[in-house]
Amino acid sequence: MKRVALLIAITAGIVSQSALAKTLNVMTSFSILGDITQQVGGDHVKVTSLVGPDGDPHTFEPSPQDSAALSKADVVVVNGLELEGWLDRLIKASGFKGTLIVASDGVKTHSMDEDGKLVVDPHAWNSAANGAVYAKNIMDGLIKSDPQDKTALTESGERYIAQLNQLDGWAKKRFSDIPTEKRTVLSSHDAFGYFSNQYHVHFLAPQGLSSESEASAADVAALIEQIKAQHVHTWFMENQLDPRLVKQIAQATGAKAGGELYPESLSGKDGPAATYVQAFKHNVNVIADSMK
Ligand SMILES: [Zn+2]
Repeated sequence: MKRVALLIAITAGIVSQSALAKTLNVMTSFSILGDITQQVGGDHVKVTSLVGPDGDPHTFEPSPQDSAALSKADVVVVNGLELEGWLDRLIKASGFKGTLIVASDGVKTHSMDEDGKLVVDPHAWNSAANGAVYAKNIMDGLIKSDPQDKTALTESGERYIAQLNQLDGWAKKRFSDIPTEKRTVLSSHDAFGYFSNQYHVHFLAPQGLSSESEASAADVAALIEQIKAQHVHTWFMENQLDPRLVKQIAQATGAKAGGELYPESLSGKDGPAATYVQAFKHNVNVIADSMK
């Protein structure tokens, strides 16, 4: 008899717990935010990203299906800082009424000169310290939408934030013994401003803050001169962009290929950058190795 009573108690416990646990339907703008949200939310989130692996978040064109999916989301996570120029209209048109999380809220931003105009750099996640700020904002937003799972979300969120802060310290160390004159590389567009400030390495690029910006023939000629004058030895592809322009420039200077960077889009599941942490580590390792 006792055993039967115990069994009933256990079964009842399981039922009431699963009735309380909620799975939030979360839509993120691009794959890096998708992974950060997954790491923080664990079993309590079902995450979809509008811009998937190897996609370009600057130039994405949403479909009517994206709008329909967005309208059903409990939570939408965006970068902000005007990265997703295509998103405001999509959110309005979809009739979305859930919680909107702006992942970059509270990061210290910087601006860059783009054709004589100061533009805020949106690529804040390329510093792991900022990645920790993103994770905190996402954790707070998920808890707001699902207060019953606060304990679990706080636990997984804080564990992940600690991991990102550790990663930031690791990256600083990784670059610390590289001489100043070797700390510059060539990439496709200006996605590494926050990375530069945080880890004291430098990037030259033919395209500006958005992959939509186009380099003029005069810009390209000036860049080639700069690469030669500064003895920049290595160039990188970006997984989400066509590498033809940067490759052409590199060939005109004799710079060598350093491989592929993942500045704003994850790789597929089996690739070297399936998560934000993997993408960041990969970028740090290939850039640091090229400077040796
Ligand atoms: Zn970009």
